Amino acid sequence: MPIVRRLLWLLLLLSFQAIQLLAVENEKPPSLILITIDTTRADRVGFLGSKLGLTPNLDALAEQGAVFSRAYAHVPLTTPSHATILTGTYPQFNHLGSLGTALAKDLPYLPQILRTRGYTTAAFVGSQVLDPKSAAAPGFSRGFDIYDAGFHSRNEGEDRYSSEERRAGKVVDHALAWLGKQTKRPIFLWVHFYDPHDPYDPPEPFKSKYSASPYDGEIAYMDSALGRLFAGLKAVGLYDSALIAVVADHGEAFGEHGEESHGYFLYDETIHVPLMIKLPSARVAGEKIDAPIGLVDVAPTLLSALGAEIPASMQGKSLLPLIEKKGAEKKDVAPEGPIYSETDYPESAFGWSWLRALRSGKYLYIDAPRRELYDLSSDPKASHNLAESNRGVADTLQAQLDQFRQKTSRQGSAQANISPQVAEKLQALGYVTSASHGSNAAGSKRGPDPKDLIETANLLHHALQSVDEEHYRPAIPQLERVLKVVPNMALANQEMGRALNGVERYSEAIPYLQKAIELNPQSGRARFELGAAYGATENWPASAAQFEAAVSRLPDSDDLRFFLGFAYDNMGRTTDAEKAYREALRINPNHFKANLMLGRVLGMQNNFSGALPYLQKAAKLQPTSTDVHQFLANVYQELGQMDNARREQAEAARLGRSAHP
Ligand SMILES: [Zn+2]
Repeated sequence: MPIVRRLLWLLLLLSFQAIQLLAVENEKPPSLILITIDTTRADRVGFLGSKLGLTPNLDALAEQGAVFSRAYAHVPLTTPSHATILTGTYPQFNHLGSLGTALAKDLPYLPQILRTRGYTTAAFVGSQVLDPKSAAAPGFSRGFDIYDAGFHSRNEGEDRYSSEERRAGKVVDHALAWLGKQTKRPIFLWVHFYDPHDPYDPPEPFKSKYSASPYDGEIAYMDSALGRLFAGLKAVGLYDSALIAVVADHGEAFGEHGEESHGYFLYDETIHVPLMIKLPSARVAGEKIDAPIGLVDVAPTLLSALGAEIPASMQGKSLLPLIEKKGAEKKDVAPEGPIYSETDYPESAFGWSWLRALRSGKYLYIDAPRRELYDLSSDPKASHNLAESNRGVADTLQAQLDQFRQKTSRQGSAQANISPQVAEKLQALGYVTSASHGSNAAGSKRGPDPKDLIETANLLHHALQSVDEEHYRPAIPQLERVLKVVPNMALANQEMGRALNGVERYSEAIPYLQKAIELNPQSGRARFELGAAYGATENWPASAAQFEAAVSRLPDSDDLRFFLGFAYDNMGRTTDAEKAYREALRINPNHFKANLMLGRVLGMQNNFSGALPYLQKAAKLQPTSTDVHQFLANVYQELGQMDNARREQAEAARLGRSAHP
């Protein structure tokens, strides 16, 4: 063989190997980016027809993928709905509908399945309600190499965005920082945005631009942050090559059917959600699917699009055939059967009835104490209940609903098993729970119809938010009205006491807090507030007794330990006071008042050198406190450090003068 031909042959061989290598590279499963947009209504996104122009970045992505015009959540609450999205199972199977229940280890779970297949897995979430270390989402970290949460309940005076929640911009910062460090593919990246959840409070310039509709402003802000995420994905070559799915966990109600926010009802405003799926290389760009589907189908669809097997225990079906078939052929592969939704929240919050719903053909049927039937083809807003005039259809759908539940449920833990401590922690996250209304939810007869009482739920929702924001005054009349309807709701009594304490009406707070404790003796929060009210009315022994009872229930509260010490201090129990102050400082070394008062107590025991470091620390923490400089002057004087004593005395005098000009 002449040398030239041999060389050519060699070159051909080499390029063939190169092509083979390339093929192997392409055979690698694609990366997956799952984006969950909390509380986002279907009618707010451009890709489903909104003319508001809030979501240009999402709309651009949607043009590259398949859009679902009728996707429905199975439960209108954050944690349970995310459980359905990530496990491909219904709430009656995974039991996450009962808030505070841990995600069972035997449930199929998208991150774990993908990690087993060699994916690097990471979660970046925007809220404490999806923090596996909080009471709301235990078990969610399974299968994730990285789970970026780390939230904590808000302390007095603290901003919500540095404690219990993270704005979209911050979530994207964290996700991009992680993405920049990844050299290995494929990856599974889950990013969750909490911004549209109330309170609606977008940052500037969205705050000003959308001052008339701050909820829309939150969505526009979230979309702008998504634009940065997408740019980051483009920069590392993932925007085109990855499978990208965007879905909302539930919608939001603005007074339709009387509901505000979400969780109590099962109408379209909170159940109809945006969903889009972009396949690698925009393989199904421009597809629109009008068949009704449920979020239980999301995980199976993603797995099959990634070439992975769908576990038999997943209850949803892959929508990939529906996405890939063209035009009329879609009909042949459209999923059969109705779409199921449920909420236990009216029961777990108030002891009212749970609700179940079925969307079947043109009908929406709701199993409630007074059942509801709507023909959505002629009545899309579900305003004319046909259940009485069309009993035959209602009976048929009720039978279908019962059958469906029977087929799809599995035995498991129930809400009744949740400890009062967990219930209290869930309350701190904004979920109202059963331990707080004093009724026994499990096994008791069905409670009243939530549609008769929704006004009370709205009022409580607003009042809880006001108290949480330390706006006590507006909460008081709201809680008064709530308590007229549900006088035996422990939580409402407790929050009324808290609000009255907040405006220094301590003696009025006491009976509400006593009642809250009577209804829920396990509550640490109510005892804390009652202890504070007794203290403010100088009933120190009663105050100390409540704080003592609260300590075992809220063992990590620095404030609680401080107030217990303060009560002892006022009773002359100096040794006990010293011990409690030290406990407060063990939990939080930067607690100003605990440093100040421990220094003072030690000084009173003539332990001046012991007192000095605490007072110095207190002065550093709050340099404008007159007390701390006065105490320091006294201690320096006793220690014979006269220069220091004079300096502190002068500072105390100066601060005293500027405080009282
Ligand atoms: Zn949510």
